[in-house]
Amino acid sequence: MAQYTCPSCGADLPFRSSVSVYAVCASCGSTVVRTDLAVEAIGIMATLPDEITPLQIGARLAWQGRHFTLLGRLRIGWEDGAWTEWFMDDGAASQAWLTEAQGLLAVSVEQDVPPALAAAPSLGEVVMLGSTGFRVADIKRGTCLGSEGELPLAAPKGRIATYIDMVGQTAGFAGLEESEDGRRLYTGTYVPFERLGFTGLRDVEGWPPPLPDPERRHDPRYLTH
Ligand SMILES: [Zn+2]
Repeated sequence: MAQYTCPSCGADLPFRSSVSVYAVCASCGSTVVRTDLAVEAIGIMATLPDEITPLQIGARLAWQGRHFTLLGRLRIGWEDGAWTEWFMDDGAASQAWLTEAQGLLAVSVEQDVPPALAAAPSLGEVVMLGSTGFRVADIKRGTCLGSEGELPLAAPKGRIATYIDMVGQTAGFAGLEESEDGRRLYTGTYVPFERLGFTGLRDVEGWPPPLPDPERRHDPRYLTH
């Protein structure tokens, strides 16, 4: 873990992931950029809007046989609501994102943008990624509402991006993010909360919710007749 000191307030500022370039100081809220030799404050980050989630920085999960720690998050708003992107690292060489939207969780990994996506696809178009077709299901503009922790990309408040959501013809999804600082492709799958083996979650009153999720519909404890 690389240890730095916040240039604004002097608090310890750990970078736990080798790929993290940006971190938000937990003490003063400064956004700090890491260069090869030092760190530099580039502004004060907005506090994340309140939201109810058991996830928090430092929580751990298991996915595909690896153990990840949540290191940072972005809150992204769009005209109909907001979602959270959690950046996570396995302490070795793997990074991934956990998307939290309306109680659904998805794990995704960044991919190189292939030639098939050299031009932005339009709604309904089917794009081949490898041998799998992905249909463009939604295109929306999102604005970064705030961030916390450490992140591999600069996402200041107000950063605008276009999010092109694609649904796999067999399983999974792909998401293309286009912003002024580049294009990024992520592929992943939705994962039920129970399968991620979370530890270190935040206590949330009234959570877990009383309604059974799809994974529990056949659990005899939830059968009503
Ligand atoms: Zn600070």
